[in-house]
Amino acid sequence: MSSIRHWRPKRRRRRENDATTAARSPRQWALWSAPSVVVGYVLVVDVLAIAVLAASLTGADTTSGDWIRFAVLAAGSAVHIEAGREIERLRWSAAEGSTYVNLKAMWVFAAVLVLPLPLAIAIIALSYLHSWIRLRRSKPHRVVFSASTVVLASAAATICVATINPGAHPGYAGGLIGLIAVTVAALAYWFINYALVVGAVLLSNPDSTARKALGRLSDQFIVAGAIGLGITAAVLLVYQPWLTVTLVITILGLHRALLVGQFQFAARTDPLTGLANAVFWHEIASKELVRAERTPSPLGVLYLDLDHFKTVNDTHGHLAGDQVLKAVARELRDELRTDDLIGRLGGEEFAVLLPGTGPAETTAAAERIRRRIETVVVTVTTGRGHVPLDQLTCSIGTATYPDAGLALDDLLLAADAATYAAKRSGRNRVVAAPVSELD
Ligand code: GH3
Ligand code: MG
Ligand code: MG
Repeated sequence: MSSIRHWRPKRRRRRENDATTAARSPRQWALWSAPSVVVGYVLVVDVLAIAVLAASLTGADTTSGDWIRFAVLAAGSAVHIEAGREIERLRWSAAEGSTYVNLKAMWVFAAVLVLPLPLAIAIIALSYLHSWIRLRRSKPHRVVFSASTVVLASAAATICVATINPGAHPGYAGGLIGLIAVTVAALAYWFINYALVVGAVLLSNPDSTARKALGRLSDQFIVAGAIGLGITAAVLLVYQPWLTVTLVITILGLHRALLVGQFQFAARTDPLTGLANAVFWHEIASKELVRAERTPSPLGVLYLDLDHFKTVNDTHGHLAGDQVLKAVARELRDELRTDDLIGRLGGEEFAVLLPGTGPAETTAAAERIRRRIETVVVTVTTGRGHVPLDQLTCSIGTATYPDAGLALDDLLLAADAATYAAKRSGRNRVVAAPVSELD
């Protein structure tokens, strides 16, 4: 059973899972040992990228201005990678178990707008090679695949600009047509890159849900921001080349801000279930209690402890246990309102805060959850293949403000004691904490 003294989240072993970019696919697949559909997909993308390069080389014409812009962008990208190395390493580690996106798109998209395609592809190759050497040595076929998706995205963007705004080279030619061309090119660039990467994740990890493979929306905002800065870099390069230096400072500042955001997210979230962790749950619960006092309004607390969870681990393995925990988190999310705060306090213990909810409704919510867990079937992966588990149950204790206590700790102790009572009286049941006589 939990106790508020044992709230510190347990240190979890590091996990490599749920990646939503090709560079972080969950199984560290060596290309040839991957399913043939994955090998085929990756090879098609790589070959298409080489074909694009070959086609762009025929009849390519470069001016000395192109080479100067190429040198500036290559230097900017290199300085960015070097100066942001520490930040990027931390972001990479912090992203363990979730998505990892980077800001390369800024330099690449600027190159797409102001350089002939072969030189833009050279920028892509240099930047991926540089990151691979200096940041992390992931499997070469993954880096080649990531770079290839960017090459294809860049080719699509180049075609968009050339079609909508022909003769605009280098890049942005101003006016409404220029704006439309750049916007359509940016959308094409983003979409093709994203679609190819999501495709790779789905193929290489068929268990992944579409939602997981699509990744976090906030990551796409990072990419959008990088593309936006790329457009600015392109305009500066053409009209005020010296000012491009200021962009390196801008991007490094933003880079650091990204790191802070990522750590804040990681510090609040339980990596296995994506629910609030114990510390964050407690922080929000304290604030909600202050709000309940002020309004005044009731506040419900549920404590949920899975029954005989150790048996799941012992019988089917730790991985199966983890899959059950994730499934329970999903069921809780689906059952509860969006403003109910669900947290994983540690192990197989969860807490839910129900703002504005009195004793009867809190017990009803707990009963709905209990029935849901009782009927859910979780297919887990074991050494013997996929096994459906349909005998999960949980014990839930409830306590409500102000009946069961006025302070958060009192409410939590009351809910915890009620859970214990539910266990003692046979498990798979809901027990409500009694009205506190002290208050
Ligand atoms: P009870 O009905 O009395 O609650 O029995 P129980 O087996 O659920 O209770 P107990 O607290 O003895 O066991 C909890 C188990 O949860 C022990 C531990 O192996 C397991 N556990 C804790 N954290 C994790 C985790 O992150 N993943 C997995 N798979 N298991 C975990
Ligand atoms: Mg327990
Ligand atoms: Mg338990």
